[in-house]
Amino acid sequence: MTEYARGFESLVIHAGQEFDPATGAVIPPVHFSTTFAQDGIGGLRGGYEYGRSGNPTRTALQTQLAAIEGGAHGFSFSSGLAAEDVLLRAALQPGDEVLLGSDVYGGTHRLIARVLGPWGVGLRVVDMSDLDAVRAALEESAPKVLWVETPSNPLLRITDIAGLAAIGHEAGALVVVDNTFATPALQQPLALGADVVVHSTTKYLGGHSDVVGGGLVLNDDALAEMIGFLQFAAGAVSGPLDAWLTTRGIKTLAVRMQRHSENAAAVAAFLEGSDRVARVYYPGLASHPGHELAARQMSGFGGIVSVALESGTAARRFAESTRLFQLAESLGGVESLVNYPDAMTHASVRGTEAAVPVEVVRLSVGIESVDDLLADVEQALGA
Ligand SMILES: *Cc1c(COP(=O)(O)O)cnc(C)c1O
Repeated sequence: MTEYARGFESLVIHAGQEFDPATGAVIPPVHFSTTFAQDGIGGLRGGYEYGRSGNPTRTALQTQLAAIEGGAHGFSFSSGLAAEDVLLRAALQPGDEVLLGSDVYGGTHRLIARVLGPWGVGLRVVDMSDLDAVRAALEESAPKVLWVETPSNPLLRITDIAGLAAIGHEAGALVVVDNTFATPALQQPLALGADVVVHSTTKYLGGHSDVVGGGLVLNDDALAEMIGFLQFAAGAVSGPLDAWLTTRGIKTLAVRMQRHSENAAAVAAFLEGSDRVARVYYPGLASHPGHELAARQMSGFGGIVSVALESGTAARRFAESTRLFQLAESLGGVESLVNYPDAMTHASVRGTEAAVPVEVVRLSVGIESVDDLLADVEQALGA
């Protein structure tokens, strides 16, 4: 089957989804069993032994993740942060340092600063969209890991992945891209030279705000072996139903990202035309400083739009006045959400270099009727 599934829209549907040989079921069953019968001691069927070390439903998701990101090895975890934790512990030793993008998911900063920091991992922060600043930071000391989100969260800064990979590799660093915002439907970091792709599959890959999960995709065999060992030995695996829901979500990723991008472009253009708005952050706008780079590096601009109102008070009022856009953390589901980063998703980085301006509101633009979305934004601006 998969030899006929070459295009991205085919891979999302068919990779890891061979029909069940026993029954012909087109959708492979969810395997809930925690243990697997052995044909004599050590006689495993298909390599499965115990649910933490391996499960066919998780294998299906991992195969799908690897295929859609164009990598050799895929791993799934119980959350995006569990995936990040395993990657960082596989790649780092005490005394090593991470160079982190200045505007990344708040929990990534917290994990490195407050969980890995006490174990001896150093952290420096730099604006990754400014490659000269990255070069200067690499001259000061040699980090083991360069970690970037592009588009970044929540200011949608765009980093040149190929450029960053080149200077990172010259400095001997592992180049990691958190591809949660763009997804492989719009951007393929491994093909651009990155070493590892990270996902919170909780967001667009799952796509329906009903399952928490994380993923890693990479090509390096030795690092993959270490990640596989930590996944097994530390145990933050995805459960079978979580893996199955994520797999089902990914099947519609290509069409969802197309519609998310169209709706977000309309919302961004509408906001840019309002005199109550100080600034709109959306890479699809010609006014965005990373627009040309995004147009080259991505095949669409994604569903996240951030907007600066005139003050923190105005931003809070806007975030509390939308009706169709529900006030909630997270992003990437089919339904639209509004988030006030300073007090919600990014509260843990308040007062650090990664803090988000108090005027900023982040919109996760869903795939509802675009007219309803625009009407909601309009009424909230007037509130
Ligand atoms: C949500 C998110 C994470 C963390 O993932 P969880 O699934 O919540 O653990 C990491 N990176 C980005 C960009 C995210 O949006």
